[in-house]
Amino acid sequence: MKHYNIAIDGPAGAGKSTVAKRLAKELGFIYVDTGAMYRAMALYFLRNGIEASQLDRIEQACRNVDVTIDYQNGEQHVLLNGEDVSRLIRTEEVGNMASASSVHKVVRLKLVELQRELAKKQNVVMDGREIGTFVLPDANLKVYLTASVSERARRRFGELKEKGIDADIKAIEKDIEERDHRDMTREFAPLKKAEDAVLVDSSDMTIDEVVDTIKSLINNI
Ligand code: C5P
Repeated sequence: MKHYNIAIDGPAGAGKSTVAKRLAKELGFIYVDTGAMYRAMALYFLRNGIEASQLDRIEQACRNVDVTIDYQNGEQHVLLNGEDVSRLIRTEEVGNMASASSVHKVVRLKLVELQRELAKKQNVVMDGREIGTFVLPDANLKVYLTASVSERARRRFGELKEKGIDADIKAIEKDIEERDHRDMTREFAPLKKAEDAVLVDSSDMTIDEVVDTIKSLINNI
């Protein structure tokens, strides 16, 4: 059977993980959430009082951190030095630290090897920021999934509200803009659409429509 790698990149809140998870399930592929790996590293930095600006401490920490991935019932679990941190990494604090610390090349190179190994061994749908441009340049299909800032903020606001968390939509918009800026302007492997990626703007699309669009792209490869 042919070996497939599907790369889905795009800014925060565009719906990448929901779509990638659904696609992987329907196709029988492995879903690789690379953001979770950056979050696990970020959790280590936070626990050890390391700030994103302290490059020497980040470099030293990278030598002591071991991030691995384990699949249980088809779900990705992230292990930080052997501890399953899959739930602990889902906070805003960890997300912000992941955004700030992932600008460093040393952090990125630490995780890229693991990502490439996973993709070599099995059919994957991998989501992130630079999967199509840097991690898997030979992916069979590359999708750049985006949506307007206001729509991404609206979705995030809705998710928080559902969890009973009070939020300010203007503050969420500002946070999204800052994350976009950091991801797009970092020196090493920034977020950008690969030349051969298909642009999908989900601003006015449902999740089902996005999944169907990508499935039809896969049928054509
Ligand atoms: O996608 P998620 O929000 O979980 O990612 C957390 C942070 O990790 C992002 O804000 C982004 O800056 C960073 N990241 C990255 N490259 C990836 C995946 C995530 O720089 N491939």
